[in-house]
Amino acid sequence: MNTPTQDTVADSYASHVLGNYGPQSCQLVRGEGIYVWDAEGRRLMDFGSGIAVTSIGHSHPHWVAQVQQQAGKLVHCSNLYQHSGQAKLAKRLCGYAGKGKVFLCNSGTEANEALIKLARLHGKRKSGAEGKCYKMLTAEKAFHGRTFGSMAATPQEKIQGGFRPMLEGFAYGKFNDVESFAALVDDSVAAIMVETIQGEGGIHAATPEFLQGLRKLCDEHELLLLIDEVQCGIGRTGAFFAYKQSGINPDAIGMAKGLGGGVPIGAVWLRDEHAGLFHPGSHGTTFGGNPLVCAAANAVLDVIEEDTLLQKVATQSQSWLKRLQGLKQTFPNLVAEVRGQGYMVGIALRVDHLPIINRLRQRGLLVIPTAGQVIRLLPPLIATAEQLDEAADMLEVALSEYNQEAGCA
Ligand SMILES: *Cc1c(COP(=O)(O)O)cnc(C)c1O
Repeated sequence: MNTPTQDTVADSYASHVLGNYGPQSCQLVRGEGIYVWDAEGRRLMDFGSGIAVTSIGHSHPHWVAQVQQQAGKLVHCSNLYQHSGQAKLAKRLCGYAGKGKVFLCNSGTEANEALIKLARLHGKRKSGAEGKCYKMLTAEKAFHGRTFGSMAATPQEKIQGGFRPMLEGFAYGKFNDVESFAALVDDSVAAIMVETIQGEGGIHAATPEFLQGLRKLCDEHELLLLIDEVQCGIGRTGAFFAYKQSGINPDAIGMAKGLGGGVPIGAVWLRDEHAGLFHPGSHGTTFGGNPLVCAAANAVLDVIEEDTLLQKVATQSQSWLKRLQGLKQTFPNLVAEVRGQGYMVGIALRVDHLPIINRLRQRGLLVIPTAGQVIRLLPPLIATAEQLDEAADMLEVALSEYNQEAGCA
């Protein structure tokens, strides 16, 4: 039964909130750790993390204390002035990525816009003139964001449809197929950008050979290799950056989602040798890297480091993944494939995934759909082995109920 306040909220959504999202399944009022509570007071396990955002769970005491303290001290000052939080965060991100420089922005798509601008500056440096070498190669099934540059980098009809003409200068290779990228390289190409694990595309991981092959291709043709870790980065796979497992050195990295633990922050790291391409006035943001979001991001990194979450995600995910992979044997008619790394898992179904996702929510587990009938699991990095198992139990029950009902029908 809907409570009156719930109806009021739903009515206001219907009347006043732009309908650019599908109908929302429930209203949330509170979060703590891996749990959220809906407007009816029901507790749900949040295995979507607000699309890979609430990386240390909801209202983590350390995060709350740091954000509250900063809110009472200095929230915003613009990039006309220095503040300690940005200095600390940039240094820490370089500690994970390598010798380089960091630019802070407000979202994943903005991080990628900065990467696209970096590619153009590199092309100008390489060719000696503006407008001769400016193209970027990205992958089929990629997702890089919704602003015009990132949208052009995202070759999906559902993203680009209705908004053409696209920004020019993009071409698309096949994911995990170096040759298809090599075939697109000519003097007008400046960079290649890929996700280490495609999240919106259905949880498809780049193979180490693919990333190594792209690195070689980029080296041969003096192209930048840009890695979009907006979804798979910041510890989600058990490594701080997922690309690390392939041993490659990217020229630049885009990050966002999990970095702020819930506040809007994006970041770009670029190698020192490219840092000189940007000079005062060449790029900027009013809000980016303000004291509040930097305090939040520094608190996320504190928790990841102090609670050794990378190691925990790497070890605890192994038996969980094995167990989830067993769903394919238990429900061969429903489960086509289970794939992923760490706390980023996709369960590809042979049937419509939405009824099962609804069923899981009714049982108390929030998960997220993604392309190709895939149920996406993105638990917060603080999820324990027991909590992972509990979610797997719920999945088993939901799938077996689905089968029983289909059998009775
Ligand atoms: C979500 C996502 C983006 C876009 O991030 P926004 O913060 O929504 O702009 C870009 N790249 C990848 C890989 C993503 O998953």
